[in-house]
Amino acid sequence: MTMRFRPVRGMRDLLPDEARGLIRLFDLSRRLASLYGYEEVILPTIESYELFAAKSGGEIKERMYTFTDLGGRKVVLRPEATASVARIVASKMLGYPKPLRLFYIVNLFRYDEPQKGRYREFWQAGYELIGSGRALADAELIEMLSRFMEMAGLRDHRFKVGHVGVHRALMGIFKVPEHEQDDVLGFIDRDQWDEAMKILSSYPAELRDVLTGLASVKGGMDKVFEEAWEQLSRYEPALRELERLREILRYAVMLGVPRERLFIDMGFARGLAYYTGVIFECYSHLRVALAGGGRYDKLISLFGGPDMPATGFAIGLDRVHLAQVEAGVSYEDRTFKALVVLAGEDERVVRLAGEALRALRGKMGARAVLDVSARSIKRAFSYASAQGYDYVVVVGRREAEKGVVSVKNMKTGVQVEVPVEELPERLPD
Ligand code: AMP
Repeated sequence: MTMRFRPVRGMRDLLPDEARGLIRLFDLSRRLASLYGYEEVILPTIESYELFAAKSGGEIKERMYTFTDLGGRKVVLRPEATASVARIVASKMLGYPKPLRLFYIVNLFRYDEPQKGRYREFWQAGYELIGSGRALADAELIEMLSRFMEMAGLRDHRFKVGHVGVHRALMGIFKVPEHEQDDVLGFIDRDQWDEAMKILSSYPAELRDVLTGLASVKGGMDKVFEEAWEQLSRYEPALRELERLREILRYAVMLGVPRERLFIDMGFARGLAYYTGVIFECYSHLRVALAGGGRYDKLISLFGGPDMPATGFAIGLDRVHLAQVEAGVSYEDRTFKALVVLAGEDERVVRLAGEALRALRGKMGARAVLDVSARSIKRAFSYASAQGYDYVVVVGRREAEKGVVSVKNMKTGVQVEVPVEELPERLPD
């Protein structure tokens, strides 16, 4: 009996055409990391349940892939990666000079309802700036994310920015404990204001009023700060947080983020419970968030480290790819693809083919593929043509004697002999 298998619901097989777009985004996010001085770390896929139980926020916690391993440990497939980074910093990187700039590419697992742009396994590139509590650090990240979107060809992107430090300061004035603050922010994130207010029902009505009033304050920088300032004028600690938000955004503009890309929403919260300050998401024409992040000053101390301010963001690479496809963004592919075919397999031929492959790949980063099949040269040509190769390079005994290779331009049909050391400059037009 034969058996047929399909991927488990919410999981995807990405065949070369689909994988290619995502892999280009891996490359792009690595390039961004190196441009801004972020060093890559490789994180484990499986973490202990407790790592996320404390501060990842109700919604994410409920949707984790949790299981008991054969050693009886309660573990999860990571639903996000900031907690892992905070764990590593708290336990292994205390001696490193600060601020630390760390970068990662990870696949994450959340038992979300599958739909467009929402999968149960998806990819993120994340950037964490650890050890600086300054507004300039948050501004760097916002500018960096904006730069990424530019590089990805999504010029219409914009930011939604909020600051949970304002909400926390207000709740702090009324002595709301931190875990209740987390729950309130979690409900606000899901737009469940009734539930959020229910938690606060035993506190003075004034708190609920000022929080709901604040939620309607949104728009561009000048308008928002004026309105929010007025509403918060009697709450000094909240005003200080608001001032911090203004400082961050002013720096972000100074670093190069166009002002009109910044949309402030004082009723904005994010699902992860560890945020303590500025929070932001990035959108394009696609209605779902492409990236999100914020400041989390208490997570590292929660994991046993010292008090260490930190801020970061993660880009949802699957969604960025989707947005690129919908916007018709295409990368200009300046490199070409060549198939190197062997006519004979004696040592001189294979050595010369090796030289040709190295020359093609090395100088221009061209894709050069060695034909390892035993098909005839004629068949190799038909294969190359069907697969969209730009050139076929034939290496045989005759060529090996002369130290040349025969190169055919598959589009024009022109074929010439080229000394191997002149590859790839002398390819036929
Ligand atoms: P978060 O880790 O929740 O801050 O999310 C950061 C980014 O990851 C979001 O802005 C999305 O682009 C992406 N993302 C979150 N959940 C999913 C999912 N289920 N499928 C695809 N992308 C996701």
